[in-house]
Amino acid sequence: MKSVDYLNWSLLVFHELDSTYESSKQLDILLESFTTSFVDNETDFKRVYMSNKTLSGIILNSNENLEELVKFVRKTNPKIPIVVLTENGSSNIPLQILNSINLVINIFEDSISFLAGQIELEIERYLEAIKPVFFGKLMDYTQKFKYPWHTPGHAGGLMFMTNPIGKMMFDFYGENTLRSDLSISVPELGSLLDDEGPVKDAESNSARVFSADKTYYILNGTSSVNQVIWKGRVTKDNLAFVDRNCHKSLNYGMVITEAIPMYMIPRRNSLGIIGPVKLNEFTKEYINKIIEDNSKLTDEQKKQKIKMSALTNSTYDGLCYNVNKIKETLNNNVENLHFDEAWYAYAKFHPIYKDHYAMTESDNFIEHPPIFASHSTHKLLGAFSQASMLHVKDGTKDKVDFVVFDEAYLMYGSTSPQYSMIASLDVSTAMMDFSGKELMNETILNAIHFRKRIAKLNKEYASFNQWFFSLWQPEKVLYNGILTNFEDVPDKYLLENQSCWTLDTDNNWHGFNDIEKNYVMLDPIKLTLKCPGLKVNGEYEDIGIPASILSNYIIDRGVVNEKTDTYSLLFLHSIGTTITKQEALIKVLMDFKKDFDKNTPLVEIFPDLVNSYPEKYSNKGLKDHCLDMHKYIIESKLLELMDKAFQIIPKQELTPAEASREVFRGNIEHVPVKDCMNRVAGVIVVPYPPGIPVLMGGEKIDENSKSILDFLLAREEFERVFPGYFSDIHGVEAFIDNDGVRRFHTMVIKN
Ligand SMILES: *Cc1c(COP(=O)(O)O)cnc(C)c1O
Repeated sequence: MKSVDYLNWSLLVFHELDSTYESSKQLDILLESFTTSFVDNETDFKRVYMSNKTLSGIILNSNENLEELVKFVRKTNPKIPIVVLTENGSSNIPLQILNSINLVINIFEDSISFLAGQIELEIERYLEAIKPVFFGKLMDYTQKFKYPWHTPGHAGGLMFMTNPIGKMMFDFYGENTLRSDLSISVPELGSLLDDEGPVKDAESNSARVFSADKTYYILNGTSSVNQVIWKGRVTKDNLAFVDRNCHKSLNYGMVITEAIPMYMIPRRNSLGIIGPVKLNEFTKEYINKIIEDNSKLTDEQKKQKIKMSALTNSTYDGLCYNVNKIKETLNNNVENLHFDEAWYAYAKFHPIYKDHYAMTESDNFIEHPPIFASHSTHKLLGAFSQASMLHVKDGTKDKVDFVVFDEAYLMYGSTSPQYSMIASLDVSTAMMDFSGKELMNETILNAIHFRKRIAKLNKEYASFNQWFFSLWQPEKVLYNGILTNFEDVPDKYLLENQSCWTLDTDNNWHGFNDIEKNYVMLDPIKLTLKCPGLKVNGEYEDIGIPASILSNYIIDRGVVNEKTDTYSLLFLHSIGTTITKQEALIKVLMDFKKDFDKNTPLVEIFPDLVNSYPEKYSNKGLKDHCLDMHKYIIESKLLELMDKAFQIIPKQELTPAEASREVFRGNIEHVPVKDCMNRVAGVIVVPYPPGIPVLMGGEKIDENSKSILDFLLAREEFERVFPGYFSDIHGVEAFIDNDGVRRFHTMVIKN
């Protein structure tokens, strides 16, 4: 049985209305068994073709438009079958066109069922040819209806049919999901851990598509990818140089490897957005200095080179590094380079990101150590949750011993991998290989459309002296040598010129001072929406809308953002985001504006909040509420405190591994944050926003790093003043103490 139901896929048929009755009738009979969309003019043809990305084939009349239509189709799809209907053979068809079509048929010759069979064969060949290697085999195997006498024990779903609860699962997930949940007992599909067969072929294909020398599929998330990279390359007492803006899994990477970390400190702007690490932090002089200044290291340890250097690329707010610049600056003074590109697996597929991703290829002359990239394929490409990839580009001189590295991989692999997850990685790869550039083009164009919409709305409101939201993006772009308003620059120019998105000091829309030339760019598809209240230069405005209020408002109306800072929110514009989805966001922003301007009673907007804390919020309107919080943020200096807290790396009393050992020995106590002076943190403490650790396990709070306590205590106070706005701080728990006061507590090591 076939695993793909070819006849269910739609054929696009171009057929003029003025055709003869006989030919129309004959065509109807020919296409009886197919699913079809008919069009009768060129404009409709192009529109339907562009809006239907899953056609199985094209049928065209041999008419004067033929040449143009074939070229139009081939521009985006080199493989889709094109069938040409003609009554007088192919003699009128130019050679170049003839070479790019699949079949020429005369519907009045041969038998109709024979011709239909020919068309079906072309469709079948096409869909077989584009089937991804592992997923294709998995589908085929599932259609063989074998009796499984092996794990998983639900045996293709049969177990679920023995019980009403199981039947719910069976009905919900569907038979294919369950029948394709196989296990390593199926030799035809290869093996993830032994790196064999179709799984290996899929990984090799991913390596080719993502420009890596070797790719590993990892099924427990990029959290594990990061740990595999570290485990495979770093060991006890090695020196590591780590972006302080790192995901918490890197902290665990340091714990398991027992590395000794030193940190790069990313810049922050006045909005609290995390910026790039300074380029000079990658120089030999800088690195030597931080090693020299580290009192924890013995003289012997100070002689070592940095074993692993890890950087988050892009940052959450969409700042992407020019990787070639970093390689040149590092000039081989670290032994391994790790880019955590969890949010950024698509960069390879569009030239706008040229040179700004780890696996970039345009640097063949720059010497570099082995480079590792972590991709959460599930975050912005199409893999199932937890399905990630680890890519390696080998060093120009230092080579990775992959037999050794595999040992680290095996430590994190299950012996019962989920095959649908492998298939989803294979499919994501094949999708990007097939039409990655086109998909990214559309995604970026859509994001540009949205960016222009907000910029225009902002100006329209401003012309009535009214406020509106804006986006964190260049207000003006150098277009044909002239600084031009962003919204007036043609889409195509913004789509094709990286320079529009590159940060520099002269055009300081971003709020970072002293940005190095050609070093970082803003990713067009990461949208940071700015609320009124705080300007990029750090000045407060009279009207202020704290982002957490807006975020609660939009969530209640079914629009969910990725991240909420103090006066800004992040929206991800991923592949498949439609104009309709954008309009829903614009509508809810406009609704918010109306409710704010009318000062709509808060009880109508956040009834649960008001009912939970009536003494605090009843009799308030939305505007009162925003302005109260805005005023409080200004007066309590919350942002200034946050800024100071993140400029400081506290003294490292213990390494993350040593601290972790104390934690598991039970040598810790839970104390209120207010009593943490001169104490050593047991675990990493990460406040969201901004999602950067203020404390790593083993770091000590002392007079020098007191601003970290001040900031945490200011957050604690904020939550007492604005109950219901409870923040998420990893490593900190809030509870009511015996005196009835709600306080933050954290885990410190016993003195
Ligand atoms: C999400 C994320 C991770 C972890 O990825 P998972 O696939 O969720 O485990 C690692 N690094 C960064 C920068 C991330 O954003």
